[in-house]
Amino acid sequence: MRRLLGAIFSLIVLVSAVVGVSSMLKETRLNRVKATYKSCFASMRVLLGAVEMHFIDHQEEEKSIEAMNNLINKRMNELIQAKYIRESLQDQVQGHFHELPIPQNDLPVCHVSIVADPIGYTFECSLHGSSGAPRPFDDLLKLVKLNADGNYDPSK
Ligand SMILES: [Zn+2]
Repeated sequence: MRRLLGAIFSLIVLVSAVVGVSSMLKETRLNRVKATYKSCFASMRVLLGAVEMHFIDHQEEEKSIEAMNNLINKRMNELIQAKYIRESLQDQVQGHFHELPIPQNDLPVCHVSIVADPIGYTFECSLHGSSGAPRPFDDLLKLVKLNADGNYDPSK
């Protein structure tokens, strides 16, 4: 009887330790996903500054939303060459994703575009939304194929 109680007690200790570790792990993973918002919005701000500088230095170019999108999607190398931005703008966001249990070939990537808004234009990420209207956290989790525990779930 005493041995049985001992065994049950050890089992309880073991189970609560596992549960404790996994909830800590869950917390860490979810926080990592949350950190990608900050990094993404920070890099969009840098990109915004770079685009502004480009058009200040190139008054001859018309600054339309289309022209700005063209610049960040097809002529990023010009922004890098002019030293408006460093090449590794999205590295921090990618770094956070790399630390999550997502397979290499399924790692999410931010696609940034510029869209019109009531006060002019705003930068928007396909994953994170815009800083004024961030994508809800649950939706972001689904997009990066993580479940509520921060585990990879390709069916999401
Ligand atoms: Zn993003």
